[in-house]
Amino acid sequence: MLIPIYLSIPRYIMLNNTMFSVNQIRQEFPLLQKQFCFFGGKKGSVVYFDNAATTQKPKQVIDAMVAYYEEENANVHRSLYTLGEIATRKYEQSRKIIAKFLGAKEKEIVFTRGTTESINLVASTWGKRFLSSGQTILLSEIEHHSNLIPWQMLAKEKNLQLKFLPLGENGALDIQNIESFLQDNVGLIAITHASNVLGSISPVEKIISVAHQKKIPVLLDGAQSVPHIGVDVQKLDCDFLAFSGHKICGPTGIGVLYAKEKWLQEMPPYQGGGDMIASVWLDRAIYNEIPFKWEAGTPNIAGAIGLACSIDYVSSLGMENIHTHEKSLTQYAISRLKDIKGLKIFGTNQERVGLVSFCLEGIHPHDMAQFLDSRGIAVRAGHHCAQPLMRKLGIPATIRASFYFYNTIEEVDFFIQSLQEAKEFF
Ligand code: PMP
Repeated sequence: MLIPIYLSIPRYIMLNNTMFSVNQIRQEFPLLQKQFCFFGGKKGSVVYFDNAATTQKPKQVIDAMVAYYEEENANVHRSLYTLGEIATRKYEQSRKIIAKFLGAKEKEIVFTRGTTESINLVASTWGKRFLSSGQTILLSEIEHHSNLIPWQMLAKEKNLQLKFLPLGENGALDIQNIESFLQDNVGLIAITHASNVLGSISPVEKIISVAHQKKIPVLLDGAQSVPHIGVDVQKLDCDFLAFSGHKICGPTGIGVLYAKEKWLQEMPPYQGGGDMIASVWLDRAIYNEIPFKWEAGTPNIAGAIGLACSIDYVSSLGMENIHTHEKSLTQYAISRLKDIKGLKIFGTNQERVGLVSFCLEGIHPHDMAQFLDSRGIAVRAGHHCAQPLMRKLGIPATIRASFYFYNTIEEVDFFIQSLQEAKEFF
Protein backbone atom coordinates (compact mmCIF):
# COMPACT_ATOMS: atom_id res chain seq x y z
CA MET A 1 0.00 0.00 0.00
CA LEU A 2 1.25 3.50 -0.83
CA ILE A 3 1.65 5.65 2.26
CA PRO A 4 0.79 9.33 1.64
CA ILE A 5 3.89 11.48 2.06
CA TYR A 6 2.42 13.51 4.88
CA LEU A 7 1.92 10.42 7.05
CA SER A 8 5.64 9.77 6.93
CA ILE A 9 6.40 13.26 8.28
CA PRO A 10 6.83 13.37 12.06
CA ARG A 11 4.38 15.59 13.90
CA TYR A 12 6.64 15.43 16.92
CA ILE A 13 10.22 16.49 17.17
CA MET A 14 12.78 14.60 19.25
CA LEU A 15 14.21 16.92 21.86
CA ASN A 16 16.92 15.79 24.27
CA ASN A 17 15.53 12.29 23.96
CA THR A 18 12.09 13.49 25.00
CA MET A 19 9.31 14.11 22.54
CA PHE A 20 7.68 17.47 22.41
CA SER A 21 4.51 18.21 20.64
CA VAL A 22 4.01 21.15 18.31
CA ASN A 23 0.50 21.34 19.73
CA GLN A 24 1.92 21.81 23.22
CA ILE A 25 4.25 24.53 22.00
CA ARG A 26 1.30 26.30 20.40
CA GLN A 27 -0.33 26.60 23.84
CA GLU A 28 2.49 28.97 24.79
CA PHE A 29 1.53 31.44 22.05
CA PRO A 30 -1.49 33.49 23.20
CA LEU A 31 -2.24 34.83 19.72
CA LEU A 32 -2.50 31.32 18.27
CA GLN A 33 -5.26 30.60 20.83
CA LYS A 34 -7.26 33.72 20.05
CA GLN A 35 -10.54 33.56 18.11
CA PHE A 36 -10.86 36.07 15.28
CA CYS A 37 -13.68 37.13 13.03
CA PHE A 38 -12.17 37.13 9.54
CA PHE A 39 -13.22 39.11 6.50
CA GLY A 40 -16.42 37.47 5.28
CA GLY A 41 -17.55 36.41 8.75
CA LYS A 42 -15.65 33.17 9.42
CA LYS A 43 -14.74 32.79 13.09
CA GLY A 44 -11.79 30.85 14.42
CA SER A 45 -8.07 30.86 15.14
CA VAL A 46 -5.58 32.10 12.58
CA VAL A 47 -3.42 29.88 10.40
CA TYR A 48 -0.37 32.09 10.60
CA PHE A 49 1.88 31.63 7.56
CA ASP A 50 3.56 35.04 7.52
CA ASN A 51 6.51 34.22 9.72
CA ALA A 52 9.08 35.65 7.32
CA ALA A 53 7.46 39.05 7.93
CA THR A 54 7.24 38.65 11.70
CA THR A 55 6.79 35.76 14.09
CA GLN A 56 4.34 35.31 16.96
CA LYS A 57 5.53 35.72 20.54
CA PRO A 58 5.44 33.10 23.28
CA LYS A 59 4.04 34.03 26.70
CA GLN A 60 7.54 33.77 28.19
CA VAL A 61 8.78 36.65 26.02
CA ILE A 62 5.72 38.80 26.71
CA ASP A 63 6.01 38.08 30.46
CA ALA A 64 9.73 38.92 30.53
CA MET A 65 9.00 42.34 29.06
CA VAL A 66 6.05 42.98 31.38
CA ALA A 67 8.19 41.90 34.35
CA TYR A 68 10.85 44.43 33.37
CA TYR A 69 8.29 47.25 33.26
CA GLU A 70 6.47 46.12 36.41
CA GLU A 71 9.43 45.20 38.56
CA GLU A 72 12.75 46.39 37.14
CA ASN A 73 12.13 49.55 35.15
CA ALA A 74 15.01 52.04 35.36
CA ASN A 75 17.48 53.49 32.89
CA VAL A 76 20.65 51.54 32.25
CA HIS A 77 24.35 52.34 32.79
CA ARG A 78 25.69 54.96 35.19
CA SER A 79 22.90 54.26 37.71
CA LEU A 80 23.95 54.62 41.33
CA TYR A 81 20.93 52.92 42.83
CA THR A 82 19.74 49.33 43.15
CA LEU A 83 16.97 49.43 40.56
CA GLY A 84 19.26 50.95 37.96
CA GLU A 85 21.81 48.25 38.70
CA ILE A 86 19.16 45.56 38.21
CA ALA A 87 18.05 47.02 34.87
CA THR A 88 21.67 47.35 33.71
CA ARG A 89 22.43 43.78 34.71
CA LYS A 90 19.36 42.53 32.82
CA TYR A 91 20.24 44.55 29.71
CA GLU A 92 23.87 43.39 29.69
CA GLN A 93 22.84 39.82 30.51
CA SER A 94 20.73 39.97 27.33
CA ARG A 95 23.80 40.92 25.31
CA LYS A 96 25.63 37.96 26.85
CA ILE A 97 22.84 35.52 25.90
CA ILE A 98 22.78 36.79 22.31
CA ALA A 99 26.58 36.67 22.04
CA LYS A 100 26.59 33.06 23.21
CA PHE A 101 23.82 32.14 20.73
CA LEU A 102 25.89 33.53 17.85
CA GLY A 103 29.28 32.36 19.09
CA ALA A 104 30.42 35.98 19.40
CA LYS A 105 32.10 38.07 22.10
CA GLU A 106 29.77 40.30 24.13
CA LYS A 107 31.52 43.42 22.91
CA GLU A 108 30.82 42.38 19.31
CA ILE A 109 27.04 42.63 19.84
CA VAL A 110 25.51 46.03 19.07
CA PHE A 111 21.80 46.51 19.78
CA THR A 112 19.96 48.22 16.92
CA ARG A 113 16.33 48.56 15.86
CA GLY A 114 16.62 45.59 13.51
CA THR A 115 18.25 44.23 10.37
CA THR A 116 17.62 47.42 8.43
CA GLU A 117 19.27 49.65 10.98
CA SER A 118 22.18 47.23 11.43
CA ILE A 119 22.98 47.34 7.71
CA ASN A 120 22.58 51.12 7.58
CA LEU A 121 24.94 51.36 10.53
CA VAL A 122 27.64 49.42 8.69
CA ALA A 123 27.14 51.44 5.49
CA SER A 124 27.25 54.76 7.36
CA THR A 125 30.26 54.00 9.52
CA TRP A 126 32.43 51.19 8.21
CA GLY A 127 31.49 51.99 4.60
CA LYS A 128 32.39 55.64 4.93
CA ARG A 129 35.72 54.87 6.57
CA PHE A 130 36.88 51.85 4.58
CA LEU A 131 35.48 52.21 1.06
CA SER A 132 36.86 54.70 -1.41
CA SER A 133 35.98 56.06 -4.82
CA GLY A 134 36.19 53.50 -7.64
CA GLN A 135 35.76 50.46 -5.39
CA THR A 136 32.96 47.93 -5.85
CA ILE A 137 30.41 46.56 -3.41
CA LEU A 138 29.31 43.08 -4.45
CA LEU A 139 25.66 42.35 -3.67
CA SER A 140 23.24 39.92 -5.32
CA GLU A 141 20.11 40.06 -7.44
CA ILE A 142 17.97 38.56 -4.69
CA GLU A 143 18.53 41.14 -1.95
CA HIS A 144 15.83 42.61 0.24
CA HIS A 145 15.69 46.40 -0.17
CA SER A 146 17.27 46.66 3.29
CA ASN A 147 20.48 45.21 1.89
CA LEU A 148 20.37 47.23 -1.30
CA ILE A 149 19.27 50.81 -0.66
CA PRO A 150 21.88 51.60 2.04
CA TRP A 151 24.58 50.53 -0.46
CA GLN A 152 22.99 52.51 -3.31
CA MET A 153 23.05 55.58 -1.06
CA LEU A 154 26.67 55.00 -0.09
CA ALA A 155 27.68 54.31 -3.70
CA LYS A 156 26.20 57.63 -4.78
CA GLU A 157 27.93 59.50 -2.01
CA LYS A 158 31.34 57.88 -2.45
CA ASN A 159 31.36 57.12 -6.16
CA LEU A 160 31.37 53.36 -5.70
CA GLN A 161 30.17 50.70 -8.10
CA LEU A 162 27.57 48.08 -7.27
CA LYS A 163 27.78 44.62 -8.84
CA PHE A 164 25.43 41.73 -8.38
CA LEU A 165 25.89 37.98 -8.08
CA PRO A 166 23.22 36.51 -10.36
CA LEU A 167 20.20 34.44 -9.49
CA GLY A 168 20.72 30.78 -10.40
CA GLU A 169 18.18 28.49 -12.03
CA ASN A 170 16.78 26.98 -8.85
CA GLY A 171 16.52 30.20 -6.87
CA ALA A 172 19.92 30.01 -5.19
CA LEU A 173 22.76 32.40 -5.90
CA ASP A 174 24.90 31.43 -8.85
CA ILE A 175 28.48 31.81 -7.64
CA GLN A 176 30.22 29.97 -10.49
CA ASN A 177 31.84 33.19 -11.66
CA ILE A 178 32.45 34.74 -8.29
CA GLU A 179 36.22 34.84 -8.93
CA SER A 180 35.69 37.07 -11.96
CA PHE A 181 33.50 39.43 -9.91
CA LEU A 182 36.29 39.73 -7.38
CA GLN A 183 38.71 41.12 -10.00
CA ASP A 184 36.94 44.49 -9.75
CA ASN A 185 38.54 46.04 -6.65
CA VAL A 186 35.75 44.74 -4.42
CA GLY A 187 35.76 46.41 -1.00
CA LEU A 188 32.83 44.52 0.52
CA ILE A 189 30.48 41.63 -0.20
CA ALA A 190 27.02 42.08 1.33
CA ILE A 191 24.55 39.26 0.69
CA THR A 192 21.47 37.65 2.12
CA HIS A 193 22.10 34.42 4.01
CA ALA A 194 18.60 33.17 3.15
CA SER A 195 16.19 34.68 0.63
CA ASN A 196 12.92 36.02 2.01
CA VAL A 197 11.28 35.38 -1.39
CA LEU A 198 12.78 32.13 -2.65
CA GLY A 199 13.72 30.50 0.63
CA SER A 200 17.11 29.52 -0.74
CA ILE A 201 20.07 29.42 1.62
CA SER A 202 23.06 31.14 0.03
CA PRO A 203 26.39 29.28 -0.22
CA VAL A 204 27.92 31.67 2.28
CA GLU A 205 30.74 29.38 3.43
CA LYS A 206 32.17 29.33 -0.09
CA ILE A 207 31.60 33.05 -0.63
CA ILE A 208 33.31 33.96 2.65
CA SER A 209 36.23 31.66 1.98
CA VAL A 210 36.87 33.07 -1.51
CA ALA A 211 36.37 36.64 -0.27
CA HIS A 212 38.75 36.27 2.65
CA GLN A 213 41.48 34.88 0.38
CA LYS A 214 41.36 38.33 -1.17
CA LYS A 215 40.93 40.07 2.20
CA ILE A 216 37.41 41.23 1.30
CA PRO A 217 35.05 41.50 4.28
CA VAL A 218 31.59 39.90 4.10
CA LEU A 219 28.33 41.13 5.58
CA LEU A 220 25.45 38.67 5.92
CA ASP A 221 21.83 39.72 6.05
CA GLY A 222 20.71 37.13 8.59
CA ALA A 223 17.07 38.26 8.85
CA GLN A 224 15.84 34.93 7.47
CA SER A 225 18.68 32.67 8.59
CA VAL A 226 19.30 33.43 12.27
CA PRO A 227 15.69 32.59 13.32
CA HIS A 228 15.49 29.42 11.23
CA ILE A 229 18.88 27.74 10.98
CA GLY A 230 20.91 29.62 13.59
CA VAL A 231 24.28 31.12 12.78
CA ASP A 232 27.67 30.57 14.36
CA VAL A 233 29.69 33.64 13.42
CA GLN A 234 32.96 32.05 14.42
CA LYS A 235 32.40 28.99 12.27
CA LEU A 236 31.21 31.09 9.34
CA ASP A 237 33.85 33.74 9.92
CA CYS A 238 31.60 36.50 8.52
CA ASP A 239 32.67 40.06 9.29
CA PHE A 240 29.18 41.43 9.92
CA LEU A 241 25.80 39.83 10.58
CA ALA A 242 22.47 41.61 10.90
CA PHE A 243 19.18 40.25 12.22
CA SER A 244 15.85 41.36 13.72
CA GLY A 245 14.33 40.32 17.04
CA HIS A 246 10.75 40.24 15.81
CA LYS A 247 11.47 37.42 13.33
CA ILE A 248 12.75 35.12 16.09
CA CYS A 249 9.78 35.36 18.48
CA GLY A 250 11.16 38.53 20.03
CA PRO A 251 9.71 42.04 20.12
CA THR A 252 9.72 44.61 17.35
CA GLY A 253 12.12 47.56 17.53
CA ILE A 254 15.15 45.53 18.59
CA GLY A 255 17.77 43.79 16.50
CA VAL A 256 21.44 43.05 16.43
CA LEU A 257 24.52 43.93 14.52
CA TYR A 258 27.35 41.49 15.05
CA ALA A 259 30.67 42.90 13.87
CA LYS A 260 34.16 41.49 14.34
CA GLU A 261 35.97 43.28 17.13
CA LYS A 262 38.75 44.36 14.77
CA TRP A 263 36.19 46.34 12.71
CA LEU A 264 34.37 47.80 15.69
CA GLN A 265 37.69 49.09 17.03
CA GLU A 266 38.19 51.04 13.79
CA MET A 267 34.67 52.16 12.88
CA PRO A 268 33.57 55.74 13.55
CA PRO A 269 30.36 56.22 15.58
CA TYR A 270 26.91 56.10 13.98
CA GLN A 271 24.74 58.48 16.00
CA GLY A 272 25.95 60.97 18.60
CA GLY A 273 24.45 61.50 22.04
CA GLY A 274 24.40 60.09 25.53
CA ASP A 275 25.89 56.70 26.38
CA MET A 276 28.16 56.59 23.33
CA ILE A 277 30.67 58.93 24.94
CA ALA A 278 33.39 58.65 27.59
CA SER A 279 34.21 62.37 27.99
CA VAL A 280 32.73 65.46 26.42
CA TRP A 281 33.97 69.04 26.02
CA LEU A 282 32.13 71.82 24.22
CA ASP A 283 34.13 71.31 21.06
CA ARG A 284 35.04 67.60 21.12
CA ALA A 285 34.43 64.23 22.72
CA ILE A 286 36.12 60.95 23.47
CA TYR A 287 33.86 58.11 22.49
CA ASN A 288 32.84 55.21 24.68
CA GLU A 289 34.36 51.76 24.29
CA ILE A 290 32.82 49.11 22.04
CA PRO A 291 29.96 48.21 21.72
CA PHE A 292 28.47 51.22 23.58
CA LYS A 293 29.97 53.61 21.02
CA TRP A 294 27.13 52.58 18.64
CA GLU A 295 24.29 52.73 21.15
CA ALA A 296 23.59 56.44 21.48
CA GLY A 297 20.72 57.42 23.76
CA THR A 298 18.54 55.32 26.04
CA PRO A 299 18.37 51.88 24.42
CA ASN A 300 15.37 49.61 23.97
CA ILE A 301 15.88 47.91 27.33
CA ALA A 302 12.63 45.94 27.38
CA GLY A 303 13.29 44.94 23.76
CA ALA A 304 16.74 43.57 24.57
CA ILE A 305 15.32 41.61 27.53
CA GLY A 306 12.50 40.26 25.35
CA LEU A 307 14.92 39.31 22.59
CA ALA A 308 17.20 37.45 25.00
CA CYS A 309 14.16 35.57 26.31
CA SER A 310 13.15 34.63 22.76
CA ILE A 311 16.69 33.41 22.06
CA ASP A 312 16.53 31.27 25.20
CA TYR A 313 13.17 29.98 23.98
CA VAL A 314 14.30 28.90 20.50
CA SER A 315 17.57 27.56 21.94
CA SER A 316 15.62 25.33 24.30
CA LEU A 317 13.79 23.89 21.27
CA GLY A 318 17.08 23.53 19.39
CA MET A 319 17.83 25.30 16.11
CA GLU A 320 18.38 21.97 14.36
CA ASN A 321 14.98 20.72 15.50
CA ILE A 322 13.39 23.95 14.30
CA HIS A 323 15.07 23.65 10.91
CA THR A 324 14.09 19.98 10.60
CA HIS A 325 10.46 20.73 11.38
CA GLU A 326 10.31 23.64 8.94
CA LYS A 327 11.98 21.57 6.24
CA SER A 328 9.39 18.81 6.65
CA LEU A 329 6.53 21.31 6.43
CA THR A 330 8.03 22.99 3.38
CA GLN A 331 8.78 19.75 1.55
CA TYR A 332 5.26 18.60 2.25
CA ALA A 333 3.74 21.94 1.18
CA ILE A 334 5.78 21.94 -2.04
CA SER A 335 4.82 18.35 -2.85
CA ARG A 336 1.13 19.25 -2.50
CA LEU A 337 1.41 22.60 -4.29
CA LYS A 338 2.93 20.80 -7.27
CA ASP A 339 -0.36 18.95 -7.71
CA ILE A 340 -2.31 22.18 -8.23
CA LYS A 341 -2.74 22.88 -11.94
CA GLY A 342 -1.50 26.28 -13.08
CA LEU A 343 0.56 26.85 -9.95
CA LYS A 344 4.19 27.92 -10.36
CA ILE A 345 6.68 27.79 -7.51
CA PHE A 346 9.56 30.26 -7.45
CA GLY A 347 12.70 28.85 -5.88
CA THR A 348 13.20 25.12 -5.79
CA ASN A 349 16.61 25.01 -4.12
CA GLN A 350 16.93 22.04 -1.75
CA GLU A 351 18.97 24.03 0.77
CA ARG A 352 16.20 26.23 2.08
CA VAL A 353 14.41 27.79 4.99
CA GLY A 354 10.72 27.22 5.66
CA LEU A 355 8.95 29.29 3.07
CA VAL A 356 7.51 28.88 -0.38
CA SER A 357 6.59 31.53 -2.97
CA PHE A 358 4.26 30.88 -5.87
CA CYS A 359 1.73 32.26 -8.35
CA LEU A 360 -1.50 30.66 -9.50
CA GLU A 361 -2.52 31.22 -13.09
CA GLY A 362 -5.45 33.62 -13.47
CA ILE A 363 -5.54 34.77 -9.84
CA HIS A 364 -3.67 37.88 -8.72
CA PRO A 365 -1.63 37.20 -5.57
CA HIS A 366 -3.42 40.04 -3.73
CA ASP A 367 -6.84 38.53 -4.54
CA MET A 368 -5.59 35.15 -3.40
CA ALA A 369 -4.30 36.59 -0.10
CA GLN A 370 -7.71 38.14 0.56
CA PHE A 371 -9.48 34.92 -0.29
CA LEU A 372 -7.19 33.00 2.09
CA ASP A 373 -7.83 35.60 4.78
CA SER A 374 -11.54 34.85 4.51
CA ARG A 375 -10.58 31.26 5.46
CA GLY A 376 -8.46 32.53 8.39
CA ILE A 377 -5.10 32.00 6.67
CA ALA A 378 -2.53 34.78 6.86
CA VAL A 379 -0.04 34.80 3.99
CA ARG A 380 1.87 37.63 2.36
CA ALA A 381 1.31 38.70 -1.23
CA GLY A 382 3.44 41.31 -2.94
CA HIS A 383 7.00 42.05 -3.95
CA HIS A 384 8.33 41.21 -0.48
CA CYS A 385 10.65 44.25 -0.54
CA ALA A 386 12.62 42.67 -3.38
CA GLN A 387 11.47 44.55 -6.46
CA PRO A 388 14.64 43.91 -8.52
CA LEU A 389 14.17 40.18 -7.96
CA MET A 390 10.52 40.43 -9.03
CA ARG A 391 11.62 42.20 -12.22
CA LYS A 392 14.15 39.47 -12.86
CA LEU A 393 11.45 36.82 -12.41
CA GLY A 394 9.15 38.83 -14.68
CA ILE A 395 6.29 39.01 -12.18
CA PRO A 396 4.81 41.82 -10.07
CA ALA A 397 4.18 39.73 -6.97
CA THR A 398 4.03 36.26 -5.44
CA ILE A 399 2.05 34.63 -2.67
CA ARG A 400 4.40 33.59 0.10
CA ALA A 401 3.63 31.08 2.83
CA SER A 402 6.31 31.10 5.51
CA PHE A 403 6.42 28.65 8.39
CA TYR A 404 7.84 28.43 11.88
CA PHE A 405 8.17 25.67 14.45
CA TYR A 406 4.60 26.16 15.70
CA ASN A 407 2.99 25.45 12.31
CA THR A 408 1.49 22.05 11.60
CA ILE A 409 0.90 19.65 8.73
CA GLU A 410 -2.85 20.05 9.35
CA GLU A 411 -2.51 23.78 8.73
CA VAL A 412 -0.70 23.07 5.46
CA ASP A 413 -3.50 20.67 4.45
CA PHE A 414 -6.11 23.34 5.14
CA PHE A 415 -4.05 25.86 3.17
CA ILE A 416 -3.88 23.53 0.15
CA GLN A 417 -7.59 22.80 0.38
CA SER A 418 -8.29 26.56 0.47
CA LEU A 419 -6.12 27.16 -2.59
CA GLN A 420 -8.12 24.54 -4.44
CA GLU A 421 -11.35 26.23 -3.36
CA ALA A 422 -9.94 29.57 -4.57
CA LYS A 423 -9.44 28.08 -8.03
CA GLU A 424 -13.12 27.31 -8.19
CA PHE A 425 -14.12 30.66 -6.68
CA PHE A 426 -12.26 32.90 -9.13
N1 PMP B 1 16.39 41.31 5.03
C1 PMP B 1 15.58 40.29 4.81
C2 PMP B 1 16.06 39.10 4.02
C3 PMP B 1 14.28 40.33 5.32
O1 PMP B 1 13.45 39.30 5.10
C4 PMP B 1 13.86 41.46 6.05
C5 PMP B 1 12.45 41.56 6.59
N2 PMP B 1 11.45 41.20 5.71
C6 PMP B 1 14.77 42.49 6.25
C7 PMP B 1 16.03 42.39 5.73
C8 PMP B 1 14.40 43.71 7.02
O2 PMP B 1 14.12 43.42 8.36
P1 PMP B 1 13.56 44.53 9.35
O3 PMP B 1 12.38 45.15 8.65
O4 PMP B 1 13.19 43.79 10.57
O5 PMP B 1 14.66 45.52 9.55
